[in-house]
Amino acid sequence: MYFPVKADGAVIVTTPQQVALSDVRKGVSFCRSLDLPVIGVIENISGFVCPKCGEKTDIFKSGGGKKMALEMNIPFLGKIPIDPQIVNACDSGEPYIQHYSSSQAAKSFNEAIKPVLELDKN
Ligand SMILES: [Zn+2]
Repeated sequence: MYFPVKADGAVIVTTPQQVALSDVRKGVSFCRSLDLPVIGVIENISGFVCPKCGEKTDIFKSGGGKKMALEMNIPFLGKIPIDPQIVNACDSGEPYIQHYSSSQAAKSFNEAIKPVLELDKN
């Protein structure tokens, strides 16, 4: 297979539920077949934080990404909750993690990208 882009590694993004996780396992195997390092796994749409009352609801369950990361011996980078402000920020061209830095999703993003930023230093 031709792989035209020089990449330092891959970040695998999954959703929390079981059906998605089986697809993601195939993605990890694909990376390994290319000798492409898997930097880590992010569990996306991991809970919805109600903007009105702050209560978190795990619409698509939670914890599947971490379980899969452990099973496949890959670093777990974190859970990103659903936040309607991400969509608003994207549509208006604002960097979400700067404009909503105190939100749970921004904090999770900042944690999740640390290993990627470390790669850049090397
Ligand atoms: Zn609420």
